[in-house]
Amino acid sequence: MTSSLLPTYARYPLAFARGEGVWLETAEGGRYLDLGGGIAVASLGYSHPHLVAALIEQGGKLWHTSNLFQIPQAERLAARLTAACFADYVFFTNSGAEALEGAIKTARKYHAVGGHPERFHIITFEGAFHGRTYATIAAGGNEKYIEGFGPKAPGFDKVPFGDLAAVKAAIGPQTAAILVEPIQGEGGVRVPPHAFLRGLRELCDQNGLLLIVDEVQSGVGRTGKLFAYQHSGIEPDIMAIAKGIGGGFPLGAFLTTFEAGKGMTVGTHGTTFGGNPLATAVGNAVLDVVLEPGFIESVAAKGLLFKQRLAALRDTYPSVIAEVRGEGLMLGLKLNVPAADFAAAGRAEHVLVIPAADNVVRLIPPLIISEDEIAEGVARLGAACGHFKAMDDARKGAAE
Ligand SMILES: *Cc1c(COP(=O)(O)O)cnc(C)c1O
Repeated sequence: MTSSLLPTYARYPLAFARGEGVWLETAEGGRYLDLGGGIAVASLGYSHPHLVAALIEQGGKLWHTSNLFQIPQAERLAARLTAACFADYVFFTNSGAEALEGAIKTARKYHAVGGHPERFHIITFEGAFHGRTYATIAAGGNEKYIEGFGPKAPGFDKVPFGDLAAVKAAIGPQTAAILVEPIQGEGGVRVPPHAFLRGLRELCDQNGLLLIVDEVQSGVGRTGKLFAYQHSGIEPDIMAIAKGIGGGFPLGAFLTTFEAGKGMTVGTHGTTFGGNPLATAVGNAVLDVVLEPGFIESVAAKGLLFKQRLAALRDTYPSVIAEVRGEGLMLGLKLNVPAADFAAAGRAEHVLVIPAADNVVRLIPPLIISEDEIAEGVARLGAACGHFKAMDDARKGAAE
């Protein structure tokens, strides 16, 4: 098939016409259990009645006004977010990368207005992913994404993930901040050692650095807390969110304390689309559901159940699954077979998973997935494992 889309993606030969809950359906009626959730975006699944109603209601009234005017929907969403976490201020964006750009600018500006413009370096981690803009590819540090695009944005110092001694050694007079994903997503659902975030917080406090958490993937209930940093009992200074907060509508944000945000005064930053009435009406509708009493606890409980079932699957198919990782409904299977092949076997069994680095497939389903759907997902993943088992047996048979 010829396509007029710039070919930066190797797309699967599969298109969906509609979705409901955790299920996607092709135009021909083929139904797929979506354990990828559009890369952790469809936090409430597809066609959630409350989100559809909010979209239609706001869509019939007013989509966009620009940030030259008061936007009550954005005010309300910002107030609800700050009430639920460490932050005092919110700036809305249209994507995760833009949220990270704003977070990075905020940290640098904090030191500049404090009389230290030379403090613009940010410590980042191997395996990180922060987006595809100039600053965020430099922050992510993946050479494949940087190569050929001209000079790399300066001021990002990469150290091994989880290595506090390396962080300490990397801190210098130019260091402004540490930027970290509480759980690496694209990097392969890598969960750092238990005390890692607490150690980073201490290093920040000792050295006058800001702690920036990238919760674009881990935030908004995904890990069984509203934000993943909340598992560790510390608070960051700045946070980026996106994916899940819009439930599929493009919406992101960076959040900051008063103190860390003190440089971000009138005229220092802006956006045409960010936080418009339509996007923030949908964001509020997502929060209506996620903040319902018991919802996030149910994510934690379902995540535990899912993880236990996956561990049993690993025991059945150790030649296919090496390890089960993650927290809440941000799970990963580290594989002994190529992750892309496993995802293809999944598609053959009508279950969707998302490959990540470190030969992992991610299971980041809509947070509304039911226990029955988890059981169905595990059964289909087992069938996908069977493809490789069958190959194993065939190979053994041929060798005998
Ligand atoms: C997806 C992601 C981003 C980038 O978000 P975009 O909306 O694609 O710009 C940044 N950080 C993390 C942790 C992500 O998972």
